[in-house]
Amino acid sequence: MLKDRNCGELRASDEGATVTLAGWVNRRRDHGGLIFIDLRDHSGLVQVVFNPQEAAEAHHVGEELRGEYVLQVSGAVTHRKPGTENPDLPTGEIEVHAKSAKILNAAKTPPFYISDETEVEELLRLKYRYLDLRRERMHQNIVTRHRVVQYIRDFLGKRGFTEIETPILTAPTPEGARDYIVPSRVNPGRFYALPQSPQQFKQLLMVAGFERYFQIAHCLRDEDLRADRQPEHTQLDLEMSFVDREEDIFALTEELYSSLASALFPGRPVQRLPFPRMTYAESMRRFGSDKPDLRYGLELADFAGALADTTFQVFKNVIASGGAIRGLAVPGGAAWSRKQVDDLTTFVQGYGAKGLVSIQVGGEGDIASLTMEDVKSPVAKFFTAGQVIALAGLAGAGRGDMLLVVADTEAVANKALDALRREIAARLGLADPQALAFAFVTDYPLFEWSDTEGRWMSAHHPFTSPNLEDLPLMDTEPGKVRSHAYDLVCNGWELFSGSIRIHQREVQEKVFQMLGIGPEEAQRRFGHMLEAFEYGAPPHAGIGSGIDRLMAVLIGESDIREVIAFPKTKSAGDPMTGAPSPVDPEQLEVLHIRIEPADEAEA
Ligand code: ASP
Repeated sequence: MLKDRNCGELRASDEGATVTLAGWVNRRRDHGGLIFIDLRDHSGLVQVVFNPQEAAEAHHVGEELRGEYVLQVSGAVTHRKPGTENPDLPTGEIEVHAKSAKILNAAKTPPFYISDETEVEELLRLKYRYLDLRRERMHQNIVTRHRVVQYIRDFLGKRGFTEIETPILTAPTPEGARDYIVPSRVNPGRFYALPQSPQQFKQLLMVAGFERYFQIAHCLRDEDLRADRQPEHTQLDLEMSFVDREEDIFALTEELYSSLASALFPGRPVQRLPFPRMTYAESMRRFGSDKPDLRYGLELADFAGALADTTFQVFKNVIASGGAIRGLAVPGGAAWSRKQVDDLTTFVQGYGAKGLVSIQVGGEGDIASLTMEDVKSPVAKFFTAGQVIALAGLAGAGRGDMLLVVADTEAVANKALDALRREIAARLGLADPQALAFAFVTDYPLFEWSDTEGRWMSAHHPFTSPNLEDLPLMDTEPGKVRSHAYDLVCNGWELFSGSIRIHQREVQEKVFQMLGIGPEEAQRRFGHMLEAFEYGAPPHAGIGSGIDRLMAVLIGESDIREVIAFPKTKSAGDPMTGAPSPVDPEQLEVLHIRIEPADEAEA
């Protein structure tokens, strides 16, 4: 190789050794005579000194160097002069005195600084991703991701899991998104779908007798993008046979995630072990969300009962229409300014709520002695002291705090209060940034009603087992049927979803029927699954666990693009390669595809 040591690994113990290094010029400083460069390779940085007295020719090369030039240099590892050590750098005690040097390749001035973490526009970063990935933070993110995946492989390998690849060109598998489709040249007019997940294949691998499967799998979903969503994401996809209760999956994954965190992220304590388990219903009731951030309290309270004889028309209407009146207590919120409180109203309106009622609870002494004199609220005249005391009791508020109340449909109240809870926690700095608060959420509903589709849809996916106790409700109250689906959440992120699967043909047919998939369509789209269940399918269960999200949580990035080597923009494009791009007419011709001009197609 062109090098015999790595820059970042050199230490004081290497003093006196002659080394050959190769890397990029991170920074160059010319002290009139002496030239210093920081040489960077994958392992880190080391200082190299070019001294005209020691090596005139090498010094000439040093004069030509610019940022990002690729350099090979040989020299002696030397202790730095006392007082010039750099304690921030692992190699900061030493430097390499160049004896010979060779420029392996020159570099243009990069479009942004590599050596400094200055803010750079995202499009530019993505266009020059290979330069962006040279920067320390991104480089580390990708290396850390490798370590995490390696840990997972090792952990599962030791527990008898077999890693198996499944096809990328396949038939559609529904996970609630649109499919990316690929035309087949040899079968004109027919299309493959890219997998939204390996769901069907992993179940078929259970029928095939592998018992414990996993894969670090790419999943492709054509849906609107967000900070935690990309057109393609990576999952730890896992399936186990002879499992018919959630706890078996939880035991394995709890050990995987907690041991991974303590092995690779020792500074990030797991807040509670075993991870708390809570039902979907409980999570919605306490936090308005099925992915609650459990690093802080701020639990929601239900105020409807205490306000049964309210005189406030807004509340009356909501109660009459079966909506929700719920809220939370803001510690110290009695002291918040009018402007701070008004901002919160605008904030919840952004989530569809019609308004927000604030009740600031002031005064001294026991809350039981509260009078309306102590209360500040734009709608104070509609409340009695008794009602305020009752609401405070429900939300755990005392004097000095503020109650925030949303009255709306259940769905809107949940959405607004979930957002409000996070916002208040952020404003008050309540979440310990280091803590990892994992929890399992269980007993999801099997179906969700879709207004747009006018039918029941799978809350998880159609292969999820119903809770057999609820089977009698299938025909009468489908919305009340619980499933054996579960999620793992951490710090407000959904890290995985999974379920115990259906392994009996009749149950699967019944679920298809509920989803509006008739026998013929079921046979056409999923006949292979139905048939496989008739050849001795074992009870089985599994998960699909987002690696990108896991990495974002563990590293503390707020967007998964920061932990993906080559992500897409918000409009699903790649500014570097230009994808998606037009194709040659000949390519389309062999596929028997004709493109309608966009405006005509729209018209
Ligand atoms: N296939 C599911 C998903 O991608 C996960 C699972 O049920 O295993 O969300």
